[in-house]
Formats: sequence, C-alpha cells, structure tokens
Amino acid sequence: MQSTMQDWPLTLQEVLRRGATLFADSRVVTFQGAGSRTATYAEVARRSSLLAAGLRRLGIGPGDRVGTLCWNHQEHLEAYLAVPCMGAVLHTLNLRLSARQLSFVINDGGDRVIIADSSLAPLLAAIRPTLGSLERVILVGEGGDPSGLGEVIGYEELLAGGSPLQDWPELEERQAAAMCHTTGTTGEPKGVVYSHRSLWLHSLAVIANFGLSDADRICVTVPMFHVMAWGTPYAAWARGADLLMPDRHMQPQPLLSFVLEERPTFLGGVPTIFQGLLLAAEAAGADLGFVRMGIGGGSAVPESLMRAYQRWFPLVQAWGMTETSPIGTIAEPPRGMAEEDPRYWHYRSMTGRPVPGVELRITGAGGEVLPWDGRTVGEIEVRGPWITARYHGDPAPERFHDGWLRTGDVGTVDERGYVQITDRSKDVIKSGGEWISSVELENHLMAHPDVLDAAVVGVADEHWQERPLAVVALRDGRSATAEDLREHLRGRVPGFWLPDLWAFVDQIPKTSVGKQDKKVIRRLQADGSLPVRRLVRVERA
Ligand code: ADP
Repeated sequence: MQSTMQDWPLTLQEVLRRGATLFADSRVVTFQGAGSRTATYAEVARRSSLLAAGLRRLGIGPGDRVGTLCWNHQEHLEAYLAVPCMGAVLHTLNLRLSARQLSFVINDGGDRVIIADSSLAPLLAAIRPTLGSLERVILVGEGGDPSGLGEVIGYEELLAGGSPLQDWPELEERQAAAMCHTTGTTGEPKGVVYSHRSLWLHSLAVIANFGLSDADRICVTVPMFHVMAWGTPYAAWARGADLLMPDRHMQPQPLLSFVLEERPTFLGGVPTIFQGLLLAAEAAGADLGFVRMGIGGGSAVPESLMRAYQRWFPLVQAWGMTETSPIGTIAEPPRGMAEEDPRYWHYRSMTGRPVPGVELRITGAGGEVLPWDGRTVGEIEVRGPWITARYHGDPAPERFHDGWLRTGDVGTVDERGYVQITDRSKDVIKSGGEWISSVELENHLMAHPDVLDAAVVGVADEHWQERPLAVVALRDGRSATAEDLREHLRGRVPGFWLPDLWAFVDQIPKTSVGKQDKKVIRRLQADGSLPVRRLVRVERA
C-alpha cells in the first residue's frame, strides 16, 4: 500500500526561503578583529540572490562547481545559500592544505569559479597555472593582489552588476548541493558530495539534537571549509538562530573578545578551540555562563576539558566525519543520571550514542558483526541518509561494506549503544597482541594539571611489535617530568599501557582543522626530530 503523502523534495531552497521570510530579522554578525558588521537574514537573502544572478551571468549553471576559499563570514554564508539553490555545487576549499593538495582538490572538484578572500589570493596565485578547470576568481574584501590569478572580479562588483535572481530552478532532492574533501589526516583528500536531501535532513538532526531555536545565537568556530561547518549554517538559517561568524579571528584572545561581546548561546568546535578559549577565559576571569551548550568533536574531547567547562555550560562530545555530514553520535548520559552519579562522567566522556537517522555497528577483521558488550573491539561502520555511499570519482570499495561506510575508527559499543572510539585504525597501537588505546592515554595525560596537550602514537618495537610514545606539551611554567606523568597514569590504565617512550615539545603538531597530526608525529619520530627519551623497558605485559 502506498502512502497518501505528498512527494515534496527536500531542498535548500526551502531553507533559504524560511530564513528570508520567517526570520527576516535574525542576524548574521561577522567579527572584524575590532568591532563587527551585522546584517539581517533579509539582507543576506537578498545578497544571496544577487550572488546567484551574478554567477549565472558568469555562465554558471546546474551542476557546475563553485569553490570557496574563505574564512567564516557573511559572504561565505551567502555562497552557502546561493550556489546550491541555483542548482550549482558549492565546493568548500580547505585553506590550510598544502599547495599540492589544494591544487589536487580544486582539480578533482573541477571548479569553474572560485570565490576567495582577498587575503588568500596569494595562495591561489601560487597554484593558478595548475588549475585546469578554473575560469575566474571572485575576490571578497578589499586590498587583495589579483596578480597571477587570471580573470578576476570583485565580489561586491559582481553583486552590484545585476538584480536579484527571480527564476530559481526547480531542483531534485537527490542532486548534488555541496562538496567537501576530507582533510587527508590519514591519506590523500577524498571528495564527498552532499545532496540537498542529505543536507536538509542533517540540518533537521542538528536542530533537533541541539534543541536550536530562534532564541539561539550560534557561534561558528568550525571552519566553514570543513564539513559544512557541521551543518550549523543551514540549521541556524532554517530555525532563525543568529549566526556569529568569527571570520579569521579564531585564536583564543580575539575569539574570547568576540564571544564576550556577542554572547552566543551555542558554541561548536574542535577541542583545540575550546582549550584555547578556556585558558583565555580563565586568564581574563571571564564568565561564559551565557552559553547554554557547547559541542566538541573532530577528535576526542578530554574529560578534563568537559569538566572545566561544566562551571558555565555542558560541553558535549559528538563524533562524526566528512563522510557523515558530520553528526553521527552524541554523548549524553543515560536519562535521569545526575551529575553526582559516579558513572555520569563515564558516559559524558564516551564517544556517544548514534543519533536518530544513523545506524551503527562494529565489525571484526573478517567483516563479521561483533557484539555490543562494551569490551569487544572492532571497526565502526555506519549507514544512514546523510552518510556517503562512495567518494567523488573514486568508488573506493574497500571503504564500504554491504552498504555500510567503514569509518576507519576502532572502538567498542556497550549494551546501551554507547560507542567508545579507542583509535583510528591507522593509529591503533598493538603491543604484544593487545590493544592500547591512544585516545584513553591522551585523555588521562590531559587531565594532569601540568599538561596542556598530549598525543600518543605507536612506535615499532622488536619485542612487543609496538610500544606507545607519549608526546606532551606542558602548560607555561609547569615542570612535570616523564616519571611524574607515568606515575599519574599508573592505576588509571593497565600496566602494559604505560608509555616507556616520552617526548616533550612546545606544541603538538596539528592538522589543517586543528586535530593532532599523528602522521607528522610519526614522521618526526622516524627521522629522529623528536627529543624522545626511553624511561623504562617494559619486560612483561
Ligand atoms: P579527517 O578524516 O581528514 O581528519 P574528518 O573531520 O572527516 O577529517 O575526521 C573524522 C575523524 O575524526 C573521525 O573518523 C574520527 O577519527 C575523528 N573524530 C571525530 N570526532 C571524534 C570524537 N568525538 N572522538 C574521537 N575521534 C573523533
């Protein structure tokens, strides 16, 4: 029996219309380092249709890729709205990639036009000769040097050259809306193409899971070039929440002053951002109690960080990836569990339970489905309407399994469906045939008062195959030694996990989106650039 429901396409055009009409007075605030500029949703919607008209005049049509090489600001949001709604494909470009990777990503996308911040023009100029499909660059902001870019037009000039687009094309919900390449933490970047339907459904998931409304002010500290800023721009726009854009000013001090000025109710970002903001807020004696919720993800959020934020608001851990749009799991304690309950922080610091719309399982080396017993370790696989089924131009069958995405993350699931990621499959440390969780070691290390940041990687060992190397950055003026930290870990983790190799550094190497870069750490270790000290030889597991 067929349903009687209308077959209404889920497209971002509806999101754009809602913001423009229902929430015309909601605000988009862009930080300028000192002071901010503000526009209403009505103004942003109008400028988005001017942008769409301008792109059409440049010959952009359905299916064409429009790249953005921009920080988090109003014009980037206008591209988020205009490009998919005119039937073209928004391709967000990670401005922190190496020149070689950026060139690869732009060519892989086949971008015809790139909207770029003036300040980033040199980045593009350096690789311009390698960009085969690129016809024109649209420069946002004053003062950029257009030399070496080929054909260039100013963003404001483009908008001023016509009237708002009236005849938006009819779209199908399954057509491509946006594209994002993975950051290449574990390999070459791979393109993921989101559909209108997947972005629409994912926005609804963001709204529902974080309880967003037009009473909210969302500060977008996730770069808009990475996984659609976790879907927050579309979710905000559909629900009328103010959007607070820090532009390029995401360093702790400027971010803190923006946050204190604009008083967001919702913050989302990687642990590094929250860590920096915490230190800046503590140093300034600031009160962040106006925030109602923070979402941390992108890498494991240390329990110590979540506990530190608890005085102001819950910093909730979520897990996801470029391939999952990204919301996959959220870590909330079981219902009714009070903060005083000894298990409360256990659940808060787990990776979380899958959100509605995401199915999750773990599998063993032979592809067999493993039990949810909280002990058995396997690869996490997910499926759902906002999870990719392949990569752009690369079916990569090894990354999929009977219609499930193999995430490359390894962990356990308990009887209640709480996932605990212990590692990425490429970061897994296997010592004497037993798993050692780098994530858990890092968590405990970061809970030590002297430790600012820590990363643990496996190093080849003749006897044990691999042993953990702990790389630690201490807080300013602190002096914990490897012996102290090893003592701190003792009793918290099994004895054979205790790292015998230690290196102290000023800063943990980070990827383009602020995650620990274990590829770089392993390379530094291999070529002898890390000041590694062997504390004690483990003789027995
Ligand atoms: P890349 O794969 O290039 O780093 P992604 O942002 O897609 O870029 O990274 C997704 C990965 O980040 C996940 O597969 C997982 O390894 C890691 N990750 C994300 N959130 C968490 C989390 N809460 N805990 C542990 N790891 C996480």
